[in-house]
Amino acid sequence: MARTTTRARTTAFVDEVFLSVQGEGIWVGERQVFVRFSGCALDCAYCDSQRARRLTDRLLLKSEDVKGHYVDNPVAQTDLTHIVANLAPASAIHSVAVTGGEPLLQDAFLATWLPDLRGMGYRVYLETAGTLPERLARVIHAVDFCSMDIKLPSATGLRAYWQEHRAFLICCREAGVPTMAKAVVSSTTTSEEVRETARMIAETWDAVTLVLQPVTPMHRVASRPDPKAVLALQAEGLRWLRSVRVIPQTHRLVGMP
Ligand code: SF4
Repeated sequence: MARTTTRARTTAFVDEVFLSVQGEGIWVGERQVFVRFSGCALDCAYCDSQRARRLTDRLLLKSEDVKGHYVDNPVAQTDLTHIVANLAPASAIHSVAVTGGEPLLQDAFLATWLPDLRGMGYRVYLETAGTLPERLARVIHAVDFCSMDIKLPSATGLRAYWQEHRAFLICCREAGVPTMAKAVVSSTTTSEEVRETARMIAETWDAVTLVLQPVTPMHRVASRPDPKAVLALQAEGLRWLRSVRVIPQTHRLVGMP
């Protein structure tokens, strides 16, 4: 299991920083600086961020002029801010994608860093597994957009997190943060799982869009779900919610990170 670093306040473990476009969900195509935080306690079967699940000694900085430049971890708050600012001013991007790994494992750092970023005009897009509502509560005041996962056991190979997801969504709703819920679906995902997901969202915050993301084969996943099965899952979701979209990972289609 990854070590957590919640006691660190002015330094963080970061896996990589780069400029790209958002490849998933309802904000697809938006230009962002991605800050991928290190460390995750989960082990999803489809994880596409294996390196970021562990704390690493160095942060990889990718930019147009420097292909692979490393910065020692843990990185200081002011240094991380400079790295972001050197990649793009706030006016040139939609937001800073705070992703991982699981960024909320470093909530003590985020609680001081995110308000600083917003003070410089950046908007904060939090991308998270949606399983740590208590940690979210410490930083939600400094988040502009939230992409939370719904971890379906059929796709992750893990247990269900219904209680955690519900508390997480309530926290987003009470803070008024625009939020989407994204569930990766696999060839073994059942209509019961999607029904449970959609009902939970409908009971908690029915304005939220549920995104069904057909799994991209990688890590321990060998194949995509059948298109007809995905359509049936969407139909089940739409019995409970107004907005259920099927959106695959798009950045991989054009070779973007
Ligand atoms: S929560 Fe994200 S980073 Fe962690 S194992 Fe799952 S997909 Fe990978």
